[in-house]
Amino acid sequence: MIPGPTPVPEAALLALAKHPIGHRTGEFSNILAEVTENLKWLHQTQNDVLMLNVSGTGAVEAGIINFLSPGDRILVGSNGKFGERWVEVAQAYGLNVEAVTAEWGKPLDPSAFAAKLQADTEKQIKAVIITHSETSTGVINDLAAINHHVKEHGQALIIVDAVTSLGAFNLPIDTWGLDVVASGSQKGYMIPPGLGFVSVSAKAWEAYKTAKLPKYYLDLGKYRKSAAKNTTPFTPPVNLIVALHASLRIMKEEGLESIFARHERLKNATRAAIKALNLPLFAADEYGSPAITAVEPLGIEADKIRSAMKKRFDIALAGGQDHLKNKIFRIGHLGFVSDRDILSCIASLEAVLPEVGYDNFTPGAGVAAANQVLIK
Ligand SMILES: *Cc1c(COP(=O)(O)O)cnc(C)c1O
Repeated sequence: MIPGPTPVPEAALLALAKHPIGHRTGEFSNILAEVTENLKWLHQTQNDVLMLNVSGTGAVEAGIINFLSPGDRILVGSNGKFGERWVEVAQAYGLNVEAVTAEWGKPLDPSAFAAKLQADTEKQIKAVIITHSETSTGVINDLAAINHHVKEHGQALIIVDAVTSLGAFNLPIDTWGLDVVASGSQKGYMIPPGLGFVSVSAKAWEAYKTAKLPKYYLDLGKYRKSAAKNTTPFTPPVNLIVALHASLRIMKEEGLESIFARHERLKNATRAAIKALNLPLFAADEYGSPAITAVEPLGIEADKIRSAMKKRFDIALAGGQDHLKNKIFRIGHLGFVSDRDILSCIASLEAVLPEVGYDNFTPGAGVAAANQVLIK
């Protein structure tokens, strides 16, 4: 029950177990062709969706460095560990970065972006980078509202870290006009880590033509050229792609609407259970992430709860990062997760809480509250 690597369905596991096939074969090209088509379906876009042999961070890095030049002014939303990371990446490449911050556990304020974008009459802001679902705190940022202000500005690209929102939350890339959207295989894709994905709009490809930041392995132009011929510029992780082929078929069968509805339901069940246990949620209902719920068990060491959960029930929960270490624990409900997973997680939590010194709840209240949501 961590937000990644997430559980992997059997069909994908079996695909991983196959002997690796040559990446310059017709057999592999046929797989790539279907994968590419299904990736576009998942991204709700006609844009290129390119696949790289990197983790999510590499995908976001590629999404930044392909479209910008040294000294370019950019805005980066920062309200958690991942927002901070994109500030660091942009600084490492010599971009002129302005962080637009919010407290950890709170969402980014769209009007803060509006103010900066509207003041930029000379159109010097080249990009706005937003983490859609901030996994470190369980907050979903209002990407639609922020994107609206970016569109009004007209010049800036919108670059999105969708690592824990893609495949969990409605992210209509073409309808919203999102330029660059990055994600990683070990999250909503239900396969192991190792693949990164970047979707690129026509406007972003225009910016690519004049972008001067250095790149080689992450040069998306190479991937685009190869993808047009159903191949890859370098040796790809063939087994992962065969697994992706299987997991995308599972996703298509379930359907986008159902996938989003399932994540919404599992989120609501988890949050209802935590409230019934009288434990504070770290992010309020209005901006709780569909992928992950962070809990702040005031006065109790969060890591004690996590180790008791692991020891007694073999259920892994995520911890807090940086100043939230030992202050929060996070329940992932992303990807291949079902009602059963939520109910067993909550029941196990109820069983371990008294062991770590917390009993301010009626036994069974969490399970009952989660089930109330799940049976609807
Ligand atoms: C997991 C994650 C990433 C990518 O992390 P990697 O370890 O590089 O795969 C990026 N952004 C968010 C919001 C994430 O949850």
